[in-house]
Order: sequence, then C-alpha cells, then structure tokens
Amino acid sequence: MNMTRQAKVCDGAPFYVLGPVVTDVFPGYDHITSAIGATAAAYYGASFLCYVTPAEHLALPKPEDVRAGCVAYKIAAHSADVARGLPGARDWDDRMAAARGSFDWNAQFALAFDGEAARALRQRDLGTDHDYCSMCGKEWCAMRISRDLREEMAKHPERS
Ligand code: SF4
Repeated sequence: MNMTRQAKVCDGAPFYVLGPVVTDVFPGYDHITSAIGATAAAYYGASFLCYVTPAEHLALPKPEDVRAGCVAYKIAAHSADVARGLPGARDWDDRMAAARGSFDWNAQFALAFDGEAARALRQRDLGTDHDYCSMCGKEWCAMRISRDLREEMAKHPERS
C-alpha cells in the first residue's frame, strides 16, 4: 500500500525506504529484520534501499556493522530483482546453480558475492576435490546422487 500510494501521490518519483523492519523484537539483528522488509519494498516498487545495521536503535555502527548491513541489503535488492523478473537478474543465480550442480567449487567462489567467505567455510571441513559437503555427507548428498543417476541414465537411455 505504501509503495502504491507514494507512486500515485508523487507522480512516480523514485521512492527511498529505510528497511522497514518487519518485527521489533530482534534488536542486534535489525540488518536481517529490515532486509526482509526491504525485499518486500523493492518487490513492490521501491527504487532505492537504505541499509540498516545490526546496531540500529542500540549504538553507533562500527565498520563491521556497516558491512553486515550492506551485505544484507545487497541480498534484499538482488532477491527483489530476481522476484520481479528484471532482465538479467536471474542469470547470476543460474550460473551459480550450474556450478553448484557440477561441484565446481572454484566457479562457485568466483561467482559468489563474497567468494572469500564462501571459500573459508568450504575449507573448514573439506577442500575443493570432493563432490559433496559436510552438511549431508558423501552418502546422503542429494546433488551427488542426482548427478550419478543422471549419468547412469545417460548410459542407458532405453531405461528412461
Ligand atoms: S551434502 Fe547436502 S548440502 Fe552439501 S552439497 Fe550435497 S546436497 Fe548440498
């Protein structure tokens, strides 16, 4: 309603929003509560998102708070672009899905918004030479099982 009304009253002028937070009971995490609201706002037509940090309503943000807020809002903006079907927005995700499906870890790190963080998490348990991760493990990796099934079916097209 807010987005629609603003566009009408202001003759479609670009609209800027701060958040909004979707709940007030998570102080210390308002970069997340507000990014949820910002995603909805962008989806419904906000033109510009102003980030909120974890320190909102608590303290003056430190550089690490600013970083957390900016990352949360990059996620919000991109998610809304994808949901709105903006041209090209989903291409990045599709490339990541392909890299993930083929267990190309280095391509995933290259495509990732923060490849350094992704690489550090990956290397915490396993390197880049395994076709599964430590979440489900080798035997239960659904992507690994799906890939093996696809390969097996390709060898025996008569069974499909
Ligand atoms: S182990 Fe599970 S979480 Fe990890 S890549 Fe495979 S399906 Fe995904």
